[in-house]
Amino acid sequence: MNEPKHPSDIAREALRRLATKQLAPTPANYQACYNEIAELPNLPPFPEVPLRELLAGLSARNDTQEKQLDKLSGAISRRSWQGVKESLSAFAKAGEARAHTEVAHDFLMVLPVELAGKLARFVEAVLPALGEADSRVVGMSGELVRLLRQPTVEIETAQALLGSLVHQAVFAAEEQLEIKELLLKLLHLIIQNIGELSTDDSWLKGQIDGLLASVAPPLTLRHLDEMERRLRDVMEKQGRAKSRAVEAQAEMRHMLAEFIERLGVMNRSSSEFEVHIEESARQIENVSRLEDLRPLLDDVIQATHAMAEETAQSREQLKNLQEKVSVTESELRHLHQELDNASALARHDPLTDALNRKGLDEAMEREVSDMRRKETPFSVSLLDIDNFKKLNDRLGHEAGDRALVHLADVTRRSLRPSDTLARYGGEEFVVLMPDTKLEQGIEVMARLQRELTKAIYMAGNEKILITFSAGVAQLAADESGTEAIRRADQAMYLAKRAGKNRVLGA
Ligand code: GH3
Ligand code: MG
Ligand code: MG
Repeated sequence: MNEPKHPSDIAREALRRLATKQLAPTPANYQACYNEIAELPNLPPFPEVPLRELLAGLSARNDTQEKQLDKLSGAISRRSWQGVKESLSAFAKAGEARAHTEVAHDFLMVLPVELAGKLARFVEAVLPALGEADSRVVGMSGELVRLLRQPTVEIETAQALLGSLVHQAVFAAEEQLEIKELLLKLLHLIIQNIGELSTDDSWLKGQIDGLLASVAPPLTLRHLDEMERRLRDVMEKQGRAKSRAVEAQAEMRHMLAEFIERLGVMNRSSSEFEVHIEESARQIENVSRLEDLRPLLDDVIQATHAMAEETAQSREQLKNLQEKVSVTESELRHLHQELDNASALARHDPLTDALNRKGLDEAMEREVSDMRRKETPFSVSLLDIDNFKKLNDRLGHEAGDRALVHLADVTRRSLRPSDTLARYGGEEFVVLMPDTKLEQGIEVMARLQRELTKAIYMAGNEKILITFSAGVAQLAADESGTEAIRRADQAMYLAKRAGKNRVLGA
């Protein structure tokens, strides 16, 4: 074994070796040469300074990490790589664990109370629309609502329940849709069947056609409402006709019974008369004195008189009876005629099929109460065709009638399904526009004007441009429908004054 060299000798030799090996004079190369000469293992130097900088840059987020930082500091001081490695790895693990609990905490976060309440109300409100046939949907929504009404609701739990409910609700909703369609078909069939059964009642047939048209999809509340009113009409009119017919039948039966009784009386009295006359004839044969004959003749005359009176009475009664029968008959005919005319058109104008005044009154009442209940805006418009008299004069009343039908058709096409068209008078119409503010109402009517210019009315080969003037009024909170129509009418009048073919707000 060589004697250990003196460090200054080693240093000098190391410098020399650097030069002979033509190595770059870096601290690492110098260290390598030094170690080689000193016969030391050539380990890289311990990077204490960078490690201290690293340590200063780390901050603990929990107690475990705090402890690991202390350990790291100790390991750096001891220059222990092993210690550094161990403490750094433990530090990182403690951070990961922390991160996990943080994520878990996120999932366990609670729903804001207000949102949970709203969700619960939403589920409760939607549930009836899904029907109660599906017990799973009913059970799940009950469970979800109970959960949502708790003071704290974990999002994760609510989300899971909501997810399953949505899944089931989709099926339930599809089923409801099918049920609705089937019911509609069934209703259609029933109404059709009633129509077939009563071929002789033309008034009923008219009603049935109307009903069939109103049960055609799409099914809207307004549609159903209209249908209900028409059905009630049918029932009411039918009831009236039926009870009158029953009454008339009873009257006839009574009269017939009376007549038969009268016939019996006549029969009886005529056979009594016969017996009487025969007896008188026999007595007359045996009479020898004239004065004996007189009482007999008186008797015959009286009997004949009585018989003649009886016959006259019977004839009179028969005549009365005949009259009564024909009166009852014509009354019944009249009743049916009245039903023919009135029932199908009870709420509709027969020419344009727009609502008539009665229909308008009912629709207005419904819309105004809707407006009050929902606190939504509601506007009405009154329109009057411009120069309609001239059109009538030039093309005839029938062409005028067809122009009215054309206007009503274009209007119905242009309006929303929730709007209502009514014929207010000769060439005046009222449009009810729920959920519509004044400006929007004016825009609706202006759009109708544009539609009318596009949908030209043909009278024979002649193209006729129909224009109208209109006033629009939005109902004030405490205003009646009639009052609003009056204001719209005033605005319409101003539109006429301003040159016609325009829409003005009231
Ligand atoms: P303005 O522009 O000022 O409204 O003039 P106008 O001619 O339209 O108004 P006016 O009120 O002077 O005349 C309305 C005409 O409408 C008179 C009437 O003969 C006609 N009319 C009313 N109802 C009907 C109907 O059911 N059919 C037809 N063909 N004409 C009708
Ligand atoms: Mg007019
Ligand atoms: Mg007019």
